[in-house]
Amino acid sequence: MGTITKSLLVKPGKKLEISTIDAGATPGAKDKAEALKRTAKHLERMGELQYRLYAEAKRSLLIVLQGIDAGGKDGTIRHVMEAFNPLSTEVTAFKAPDGAERRHDYLWRVHKVLPESGRIGIFNRSHYEDVLVVRVHDLVPKETWKKRYRHINEFERMVTDSGTIILKFFLYVSKDEQKERFEERLADPTKNWKFSMGDLKERERWDDYMAAFEDALTNCSTDYAPWYLIPANKKWYRNLAISEIITETLEGMNLKFPKVELDPAAVRID
Ligand code: AMP
Ligand code: MG
Repeated sequence: MGTITKSLLVKPGKKLEISTIDAGATPGAKDKAEALKRTAKHLERMGELQYRLYAEAKRSLLIVLQGIDAGGKDGTIRHVMEAFNPLSTEVTAFKAPDGAERRHDYLWRVHKVLPESGRIGIFNRSHYEDVLVVRVHDLVPKETWKKRYRHINEFERMVTDSGTIILKFFLYVSKDEQKERFEERLADPTKNWKFSMGDLKERERWDDYMAAFEDALTNCSTDYAPWYLIPANKKWYRNLAISEIITETLEGMNLKFPKVELDPAAVRID
């Protein structure tokens, strides 16, 4: 395990305290210039490894992105996931459930869109909203959301037992950084659309959100589906850290091209 992967892993079974973490930290990186170079190398390697994953067609990868508003989920998809071939990649953004989603259990819509063998699934928000926004806003009673940590662990166990590797990233920005990003959205006419007054309402609940993230990460970082806490104030560090963890994970899968039945040398094409 490299320095970044090791230092950002949320250790299973250990109580996480977000307030002790510096969102501007850059553990395992020298400086921005070095980070950009390393990231570029990782992105290239991610593409190569995805090609093998697709060829092998036995296992799949699920990447979960969570974070507060303006935490950089969209930017991560743009700058890191661009390494992947769209042919075998699927991004799903989870909004407040509606219609049929509301008539099923909360994991139904998640299960339906898990990546099939050979593919990569990227979740922009996820089933964790059901212990985050749902908890902060009392959308269900406490005795309902409390049980969900166990459901989620068991669900993720089943999914990983079935050949899907799960990586979960919490993009952690500071409250000051969020303010700056909101101000940027207000100042730039091409970014105005990203801002809503509702974002400020959520910002008022900052401490409640952090408490909910703490519990989600503490209860649901497991050896089979780990959470990584990514200090995300510096976008270049966020991109380096996430691309490095993904690359290491894919390398660790020891992906092989499938053996073919025929003898390629014996094939004659007229
Ligand atoms: P955005 O990611 O900015 O497009 O916003 C999506 C919104 O959907 C956020 O405010 C989420 O909190 C909300 N959302 C996602 N999943 C759920 C859920 N399970 N229950 C309630 N709200 C949700
Ligand atoms: Mg938003």
